[in-house]
Amino acid sequence: MTKMTRRDAIVSAGLAAAFGLSSRLAIDPAFAETPLEPAVGFRKYKVGDIEVTAVYDGIWRKPHDAGFIKNASVDDTKAALAAAGQTTEFMPIPLTVVVLNIGGKLIMVDSGSGVGQWQPNATNLPGNMEKAGIDAKKISTILVSHFHPDHIFGLMEKGSNTAVFPNAELIVHDVEYKWWTEPGRVEKLPEARKGLGTRIQNVFPNWKNFKLVADGTEVAPGVRLINAPGHTPGHAAFHVSSGGKQLMISNDVMYVPALLGPHPEWQGAYDQDGPLAVETRRNLVNRVIAEKMMICGAHFPFPGTGSFVKDGNGYVFTPEAA
Ligand SMILES: [Zn+2]
Repeated sequence: MTKMTRRDAIVSAGLAAAFGLSSRLAIDPAFAETPLEPAVGFRKYKVGDIEVTAVYDGIWRKPHDAGFIKNASVDDTKAALAAAGQTTEFMPIPLTVVVLNIGGKLIMVDSGSGVGQWQPNATNLPGNMEKAGIDAKKISTILVSHFHPDHIFGLMEKGSNTAVFPNAELIVHDVEYKWWTEPGRVEKLPEARKGLGTRIQNVFPNWKNFKLVADGTEVAPGVRLINAPGHTPGHAAFHVSSGGKQLMISNDVMYVPALLGPHPEWQGAYDQDGPLAVETRRNLVNRVIAEKMMICGAHFPFPGTGSFVKDGNGYVFTPEAA
């Protein structure tokens, strides 16, 4: 496997842009070589003094469906996957959770999809966490990005809804928590979301370990909650800063970069407010580029970390350490 450094990728992307080869940028060699599923399901790296562990939960091999992107056809999405060197047999939606070790405290971002509660191939989080040497019982804080199943079902036991992390503090954007738990919300949800809304309303208000915070709050040393609405009303990213290094944990802002890198204007079926999600996507990625941050995303190819460069109206994603 050819190893391409981030700098090489940026230089090659810059050269290609200079020669007007924008169509080649989507085929970043590092991206095309990203395996569909990792041989080792965890990866550790540093952001300054903070240790980040990317832990692989699994992959949703989503059958192609015309509604997945509201303003693009199945042919368009297949073409974007092919241009990024990804399979076109199905829509690959991997899921990765990150755990931060900050001065010995373990802080997890989201909880994975809960074995057997989301997709049949997303069952690996507990095993991979153990292999990474992380004791789930020692996680003291969970930063919750939003209340979609693949991000919160790992908080609840299948069937009983018993708290999996009863002693951890669960930090969530106040807008997200209030929107989902508001009286009368379930009745207003689309049919496909009523089950989720009911589960949230039956369970979360009974838990005492939720802490609701506003945009910009420092939720752990060096970590701030960033309002990133559109995907859901209170969807949040988390900005990590240590020793002059920065990482934007973008969660679902740019969920499948093979599609939304070259086409940030595409609106996903799961983007509750499509135009707002597009605006948030552009603002967040522009900031990441301007401030030379690393970025990771819950549904980026594992380990989910890399960088973006601008390409006309879109972006090219280069995985770090492909
Ligand atoms: Zn998601």
